[in-house]
Parts: sequence; structure tokens; C-alpha cells
Amino acid sequence: MGYSYDDQNIFAKILRGEIPCSKVHETEHSLAFADIAPKAPHHVLVIPKGPYVCYDHFAAEATDAEIVDYTRAIGAVCAQLGVSPSDGGNGYRMIANTGNDGVQEVPHLHVHILAGRNIGPMILMRP
Ligand code: AMP
Repeated sequence: MGYSYDDQNIFAKILRGEIPCSKVHETEHSLAFADIAPKAPHHVLVIPKGPYVCYDHFAAEATDAEIVDYTRAIGAVCAQLGVSPSDGGNGYRMIANTGNDGVQEVPHLHVHILAGRNIGPMILMRP
């Protein structure tokens, strides 16, 4: 069926500069900014600049350069926050909510990076 991208979503507006964000990191193909409603002491969203709805859309249609850039941007944010265990940090959780069952609110691919406290169980334990 494929994906159709809604360019009126809030992250598309941030990318166009129509609404502000608290920028954490930017590369040629990616942008990271603070979540407006943080769920942890560190709560950063990392998005590709291209029009991708979710991760499987990105995996199928992004260029190699975009995929490498995005992956490295996520790593750079972890390094910048000092949360990577390899740097002596205490770790973090990455989440990419997708679609209805994944409870995705904004239809532009984003990875949440949550850190700065114990993030707790992975999900509510309901089969
Ligand atoms: P999700 O449920 O995975 O789609 O998460 C969307 C996230 O976007 C939520 O954590 C919101 O708090 C966050 N959010 C919504 N609007 C903004 C905004 N203008 N700037 C930063 N984060 C936002």
C-alpha cells in the first residue's frame, strides 16, 4: 500500500522553520531537538529531514547517505548527552512509536532518546 506523508505535521513545520524547537544537534540529513513534554531528565527526539512517516518507511525509501547520517546523528546525541555506557554514562532508552498500535502521535519518523533516570520496565505487561 505504501505510505503517504502529511507535510502539515508538527515536525515538518519545525523542519521548515515555521515553529521553533530547542535544537540539540543538526546534520545534513537529520535534526535532534528537545521533546516539548519531557518524560525523563533527558528527552530528545531525533528526526530525519526527509519526508518519512516511520522507521520501516525510512528503511525502504531513504538513501544510504540519509540512513548513515541518521544513525550517526543518534549516536552523536547520545555522546553529547553523556549517556553512552562506553563513555561512562548510565545508559538510555530509544523508542520509535509507529502507527496506531505503536501509539504514534506525530507522523514523521522520530526516535525518542530518554535518559537521566532509570526508565523502568520496557512496556506495561499486558499481553
Ligand atoms: P509519538 O507519540 O512517538 O509520536 O511522540 C511525539 C512526541 O512529540 C511527544 O513526546 C510530544 O511531546 C512531542 N512533541 C509534540 N510537539 C512537539 C514540539 N513542537 N516540539 C517538541 N516536541 C514535540
